[in-house]
Amino acid sequence: MIRLNRPDAPPVLSPVFVAEGVARFALDGSAVWNVDEIKRALSELSSGKCAYCEVRLGEGPAYLEVEHFYAKGHYPGRVLAWENLLPACRRCNAKKGDWDVAPAGQMMVDPTIMAPPIHIQLDEAYRPLGRTPVGEITILEIGLDDIDRLGVKRYKIGEAFKRKLEDLLDRYVSLPVNASLHRRRGVVRAVRDAVAKAGSDAPFSAVIATVMTRSPAYAALKAAMEAAGDWSAELRAADDIATAASLT
Ligand SMILES: [Zn+2]
Repeated sequence: MIRLNRPDAPPVLSPVFVAEGVARFALDGSAVWNVDEIKRALSELSSGKCAYCEVRLGEGPAYLEVEHFYAKGHYPGRVLAWENLLPACRRCNAKKGDWDVAPAGQMMVDPTIMAPPIHIQLDEAYRPLGRTPVGEITILEIGLDDIDRLGVKRYKIGEAFKRKLEDLLDRYVSLPVNASLHRRRGVVRAVRDAVAKAGSDAPFSAVIATVMTRSPAYAALKAAMEAAGDWSAELRAADDIATAASLT
């Protein structure tokens, strides 16, 4: 899970549209939130990923569902409140169900308001652990610790990225002093592409960011590139993003 910035509400959510939708939902339970403009705005909010588990929301079972942070069964007046809507995959949405976040001790992480690293960490085996009661409830109610659904994917992605960083370090430090500019740029570009995977638009970016900040190879690579003047402003910015998103 990563921190998401919520933009302004999409124009479709006018006061009239919202009032009519709330009334209709109260009347017959219609899915008044299933509107392309709303889904598109939510997809942009999360770069097309589930706000909870960070899977890419594409076709099939992982397609985007409109999640109500304050469950619609308990808070029917908020079914079209923009601040209450999150993009989620079908499995996270179904797992959370009608969990009520309002009573004491039941609050979960809303990634548009809270910084996930404050509440959740990933251990060395890619298992999410709660740092706070809010984090613990989030992991439990969303099923973020489901090994079959997420644990195996996290492990594969994390371990592959760890090896990638080791390989990049190898390639960078073994560049001969007289390496051609072309060859040098090739390695630097590969580092930049790898670091960008911790950016908010990549699937499982929190896992990548966590692996990156824990990796001795990455620390060595960064130090070597800084010393050689190859650590660009772009890499610095990407490094800052990863540090902020890391669940260490
Ligand atoms: Zn999900």
